[in-house]
Amino acid sequence: MATTPPALVATGDRRTSVQSAEALRQGSAGFLAPDFKGLQTCGEPIHLGLPVPLYISRTGTFYFGGLRTCGSVTACPVCSWRIMRQRQRHLMDCHRTVSALDGSTLVFHLTAGYPGDIRVAEQRERLQAAYAKFSGGNNSLGGRTGKRAGVLGSFRSLEFKYDAQTARWNPHFHGAAFFTGDIPPEFGAWLTGRWSRSLEAVGLSGGEDTRPGEAGEEGLSYICKPIWTDETEKTKDRLTPFQLLARAVETGESRWIDPYQEYANAMKGKRTTSFSRGLAEKLRLSERRHRASDAELARPFEGRPPVDEISPGVYRELRQRSEVNRYLGGYRR
Ligand SMILES: [Zn+2]
Repeated sequence: MATTPPALVATGDRRTSVQSAEALRQGSAGFLAPDFKGLQTCGEPIHLGLPVPLYISRTGTFYFGGLRTCGSVTACPVCSWRIMRQRQRHLMDCHRTVSALDGSTLVFHLTAGYPGDIRVAEQRERLQAAYAKFSGGNNSLGGRTGKRAGVLGSFRSLEFKYDAQTARWNPHFHGAAFFTGDIPPEFGAWLTGRWSRSLEAVGLSGGEDTRPGEAGEEGLSYICKPIWTDETEKTKDRLTPFQLLARAVETGESRWIDPYQEYANAMKGKRTTSFSRGLAEKLRLSERRHRASDAELARPFEGRPPVDEISPGVYRELRQRSEVNRYLGGYRR
């Protein structure tokens, strides 16, 4: 398991275009103090004063162990990268297994329109209530309707984008449904209709962008992105939370800091992704892996002996300069 976050494309601005996830984590901890205690110490050695062990992954990447991890997928760019990368792998495993069994994968995007003065916490609650309606009961993906259509199970991911033009958050879901055979021709229309009725039931309007389609690997990796930098995003005014954070860190301006804080507080301790129960088992994949918590996925694997260790002083200095990953990138045995 590699744990080196890539250089982070933070904003459209060239001056700030590349920031490391570690530096962003420090910025995040600074803006969210003192309510996010785990974030302040994320990346610190568990045993201060002892050498920090270095591990090598199966794919040949180096990473440090014996460190505290906050496990926050929404507030910590470093943990978020690890968590989302593994969820993305699990999602690909499902897709490849289903394809090998001559099944199909449908990708869908569930968006919503929100009242003008709504707070982020309420946006999240209402959107999640809509999803509960969408996915509950007999006439749903997981119910009799899904079963009749050959649905094996599903995945969903909650994503937030900040619109810099309107200064508003726009939470939405991305999802995937896995089928034993072909996707029934009327299924996309059924899904879209069910989502708009679910939105109505919680007092939200329909999204402008609910378009189900058969998935390739590219479409699937889009719906579960590590670190949400989303370099393919065309409109530079729609920011991921970490892109917004990068602007906040760079400028120190409250017009970026305030919405970032509001988002982080509304999402504190919340998961953003999940697989439907039993899907992994049906595909003979590891149900334990699929149901792992964010905190478990954020922890680096330390089941093998370390290959080296560095002194606590050197590690402290690398951490202070946000250069841990640069060091790892250049490390040679
Ligand atoms: Zn963390």
